[in-house]
Amino acid sequence: MKVKALYFWIVFAIALLSVLGGGYLHLSKQKTISMIMKDLSNTKSDVATLEEINNALVEELELEKQKNSLFSGQINEIYGTVGSLSKLAKTDKELLQKYSKVYFLNEHYIPDSLVKIAEDYLYEPKRELEFHSKAYYFLEAMMKDAIGEGVDLKIASAYRSFGEQGILKNGYTFSYGNGANKFSADQGYSEHQLGTAIDFTTSKTGSNFNAFDETEAYQWLLNNAYKYGFVLSYPEGNSYYQFEPWHWRFVGKALALRLDEEGENFYDLSQNKIDAYLINIFD
Ligand SMILES: [Zn+2]
Repeated sequence: MKVKALYFWIVFAIALLSVLGGGYLHLSKQKTISMIMKDLSNTKSDVATLEEINNALVEELELEKQKNSLFSGQINEIYGTVGSLSKLAKTDKELLQKYSKVYFLNEHYIPDSLVKIAEDYLYEPKRELEFHSKAYYFLEAMMKDAIGEGVDLKIASAYRSFGEQGILKNGYTFSYGNGANKFSADQGYSEHQLGTAIDFTTSKTGSNFNAFDETEAYQWLLNNAYKYGFVLSYPEGNSYYQFEPWHWRFVGKALALRLDEEGENFYDLSQNKIDAYLINIFD
């Protein structure tokens, strides 16, 4: 009997331990899960806080960016103005100056820089002629296109220094005296001293300039020269100087186009209106 009772107690003890152990394990699992849930909810709130901070930073960054772009816009505007002013300051004002019998170019004036005109375009290829270096591109383009279209167009004269004018006008007696510029120069002369005026002819017309207005070349220039920035300084019927069909002056594309569209002459426009085109003369 004693052995049976012992077995009973052993089995009873094992059963009791199993029940208690299972309960304990169950309770401990429950506790872990609730802790994890708590941690999770804490993490969630942390994430929400971080998101809020992040959003605030993004907003701030966006605001800074806007400020920066506004600032850089202002900087660009200032640079643009400074650029225009310095471009204008570097552009020779004489290039769009109107000359007359009372107002012409100073005898000491020399263009910024001159280049030789290609022989192919010259009426007398052996006579070296020069033109304003910055305007030469436009002259060359015009000559190429005219010749390309089969027009007989030649350059008879271009840049002339003050001294050369004296030689040209032999027969005239000059006395420069104390005050220079006292002689009665032809108006076109100042434009030649600028380096931006050209006297055109054809291989047939030669130095008989007065016949130039009867040529196909003259008609071609009337129809096309403005596209290259050239204008006829002294057109037929003008009120300020004799008609010079051969004498053309570079004034830049924008001004030449305006004059062509409006049917105006360079010398009829006020100096103020003309000066507005100076900044873009070589564009
Ligand atoms: Zn001329």
